[in-house]
Amino acid sequence: MSDIVVIGGGAAGMMAAVFAARAGADVTLLEKNEKLGKKVYITGKGRCNLTNDCDRDEFLSQVPRNPRFLYSALNFFAPRDMMTLLEENDCPVTVQRGKRVFPSSEKASDVTKALTSLLRKLNVRVCLNAEVKTLTVEGGRLTGAKLKNGTVQRADAVILACGGLSYPSTGSTGDGYRFAEDLGHTVTPRSPVLVGLETEETWPRSLQGLSLRNVTLTLSNGKKTLYTELGEMLFTHFGISGPLALEASCHLPDPPAGAGLTVDLKPGLTREQLDARVRRDFSEAGKKQLKSVLPGLLPASLAEIFPGLCVIDASLPCNQVTAAQREKLLVMLKALPLTVKAPRPIDEAVVTRGGVSIREIDPGAMRSKLIPNLYFAGEMIDVDAHTGGFNLQIAWSTGALAGASAADHNEL
Ligand SMILES: Cc1cc2nc3c(=O)[nH]c(=O)nc-3n(C[C@H](O)[C@H](O)[C@H](O)COP(=O)(O)OP(=O)(O)OC[C@H]3O[C@@H](n4cnc5c(N)ncnc54)[C@H](O)[C@@H]3O)c2cc1C
Repeated sequence: MSDIVVIGGGAAGMMAAVFAARAGADVTLLEKNEKLGKKVYITGKGRCNLTNDCDRDEFLSQVPRNPRFLYSALNFFAPRDMMTLLEENDCPVTVQRGKRVFPSSEKASDVTKALTSLLRKLNVRVCLNAEVKTLTVEGGRLTGAKLKNGTVQRADAVILACGGLSYPSTGSTGDGYRFAEDLGHTVTPRSPVLVGLETEETWPRSLQGLSLRNVTLTLSNGKKTLYTELGEMLFTHFGISGPLALEASCHLPDPPAGAGLTVDLKPGLTREQLDARVRRDFSEAGKKQLKSVLPGLLPASLAEIFPGLCVIDASLPCNQVTAAQREKLLVMLKALPLTVKAPRPIDEAVVTRGGVSIREIDPGAMRSKLIPNLYFAGEMIDVDAHTGGFNLQIAWSTGALAGASAADHNEL
């Protein structure tokens, strides 16, 4: 029976431990926090969007970074497998809008509870408050891990599942990157994704808290469209956030500063239909001021600043708006421009882009191509996905495959 040490008791590490133990290994799970799955507790605003009930191709279309690397992991342990595993462990799940899957209780803690009790059933040795400081190497061979308290944990194989750099209060402080680099692995540059976008323009600040539903956000770099989607966005004190801004952050150019954003405030109307609507509204309004008509087209706070953004006097009577001014209003309604200053810092990001280079990991086993008894799982690998349950499923799938492969290690 092989001794396996899993470092990191997040989503990926818990699943790696489950699969290694199921395959007959003697497993020790080392977690530096006082409890397992601290980040899982805050996922999906405490509800845990744990996977997405879609097929593999749909899944991979939601992975902008290195999707092909995930083929084997998703074949090995698919979203449906995760749903079944939870159902079998007293955590019923429900599929909601956009095929997003949640625990039926809508409590993220129930997912961790189910996994914790499974770890117990499988006799995994869970060590909490067990922070790994370094990996140990003897005679050129990886032999285990040394903890902060000086204890050395020996292992036939080590699985690194230390997470990324986002929300460091949950324990994801980037230790795993250091361990991988110490062993000669390449770690690609890290940046925040699924994060709000700071804008050069300061006017979004005055709309802080305003959420726009059914708008189209487009991100472009010069003439090329990098992302365009219909959905919901939010104005904040720094610029924009909400689902559309978060997703757009996955497609930012490098460097991100200066990338252009436009918001189509009326995506349901063609330019011609909108023109007809504005003409009709203005004609009915007659001598009424522009500022009294715009709230019929836009949310009140946006309507208030909109004439200023179009450089038109808000008190202008509607019947005196010139054709050029009407044209300007139309252009701004269909493509309100913003400029990206920067993504928000990585500690506010939902996930970290970059990580251990996929070129140095065998995708069929999650095994290091440099160190034969080292395995990787979860966010510390250079893959990331959109929102919708995809990032957690990446952690479950890579964790499961790493665990099963590591348990097989002696037979390699
Ligand atoms: C606010 C927020 C909401 C999210 N919501 C969703 C969602 O609804 N759906 C979704 O799919 N994804 C969501 N995500 C992303 C998802 O949570 C992560 O992709 C996923 O948790 C990554 O799992 P992981 O196991 O790789 O890393 P982590 O969950 O970060 O786990 C790594 C673990 O390793 C431990 N560790 C680190 N270093 C050491 C060390 N030296 N010694 C011992 N232990 C160590 C850490 O303490 C931590 O417990 C969300 C993320 C955030 C921040």
